[in-house]
Amino acid sequence: MTQTERKPSTHTGGCHCGAVRFEADLDLGNPVGACNCTLCTKRGVLGAIVKPAELRVLAGEENLGDYSWGPKTAHFLFCKTCGIHVFGRGHLVELGGAYASVNVTCIDDIDPATLEVVYFDGRHDNWQAGVRDTPWPVHA
Ligand SMILES: [Zn+2]
Repeated sequence: MTQTERKPSTHTGGCHCGAVRFEADLDLGNPVGACNCTLCTKRGVLGAIVKPAELRVLAGEENLGDYSWGPKTAHFLFCKTCGIHVFGRGHLVELGGAYASVNVTCIDDIDPATLEVVYFDGRHDNWQAGVRDTPWPVHA
């Protein structure tokens, strides 16, 4: 994993239909996270963890649906019109407390092929293990 110095800049993004718009302070040169949990496996999201203040909803707050499951420590927000998951909000000690997770595939004009991906073992709540360069197994 390449650990680069954090130099965030403001990126805009949104859902597919355009109802939900946001901006986030991110350095897209840093690795983005994929996760093997039951939800992330199905939705194929790539996440960037930011502080809550580094993610700002510009439009469509009222059009956001809120999904959470299990211990309900995290909220996964999606556009009620087009169904696209745009970002999540939660609290996890291992991630430094309150956080937001931006779905970087929703950043305007993003090319996922340019992103470095690292992997979380969310399936086993193995957050203390951090990330690694290859996917964690689902069935372990
Ligand atoms: Zn939408």
